[in-house]
Amino acid sequence: MRNHYLQRMGIDVWVPRHDTAASEQPTVQEAVSELEPSVSEAAAAPTADAGWHWDELAAKVADCQLCALRSGCTQTVFGTGDRQARMMVIGEGPGAEEDRRGEPFVGRAGGLLNNMLRAMGFARNEVFIANVVKCRPPNNRDPQPEEAAACAPYLRRQIELVAPDVILAVGRVAAQNLLQTQAPLGRLRGAVHRLETRDTPVVVTYHPAYLLRSPADKVKAWQDLKQALKLLHAA
Ligand code: SF4
Repeated sequence: MRNHYLQRMGIDVWVPRHDTAASEQPTVQEAVSELEPSVSEAAAAPTADAGWHWDELAAKVADCQLCALRSGCTQTVFGTGDRQARMMVIGEGPGAEEDRRGEPFVGRAGGLLNNMLRAMGFARNEVFIANVVKCRPPNNRDPQPEEAAACAPYLRRQIELVAPDVILAVGRVAAQNLLQTQAPLGRLRGAVHRLETRDTPVVVTYHPAYLLRSPADKVKAWQDLKQALKLLHAA
C-alpha cells in the first residue's frame, strides 16, 4: 500500500529482480519495510500547560485582527487534524483554496501532502496540520516578519497543546520561522533541528506546491519523511 502512495507522489518503486547485481541495490520498497511497525498509534496526552485551551484558542484566532492580513482574507484558517497527534505538519500560510475552504493544505498541493503522509503510514486526520500565519497573504506572497511574529503565539500554543513528537516543517518560510533562521532550505534539510521553546525535533522538507513544480525532488522529500519516521520510532 505504501508503494502505491510513493507512486502517487511520483517516486518510482523498483521491484527487486533476482539477478545478483540488482539484489545488491537497496530498493525503496525495502527501505519502506525497514520503517515498520506502523507509527499511527495515538500519542500520550499533551501536557496541560496554563493558557488558552482549544476552544478559546480557536475563538482568539477567529476574532484576530492583530495584523494586516486579516483585512485581505476571507476567513482565518486555524488548522486541522488530530489534536493529540504524534506529528505536526506546519506550512507557511493559506493559499486561495485554503482561504476559501477554511482548511490548510487543500487543492493539488494538499493532495500531494496527503500522499506524502500516506507513504509514511498516516491518514491526513492522524496528524495535525497548521500554518505559520492563519490568514492568507495577498497574491500568495510570503508572510512579512511582523505578520509571522503577530501570529506566532497561536502556533506556539497549538504546538504546546498537541505536544507532538516530531514537527515536519514544509517549505522555506515555515522552516525559517519555526527555527528563527534565515538559512536557505537546502541547508536546513537533512538535519534534525530542535524547537528552542520545547526541544521538539523539527525535520525540514519541501513544500508540496514546490514538489508539484519540481517532481525530481520528490525522492529527496522522501528521504526527509523517512528521517521524521525514524524520530517517531525512537520517541
Ligand atoms: S495572520 Fe494571524 S495575527 Fe494576523 S490577523 Fe490573521 S490570525 Fe491574526
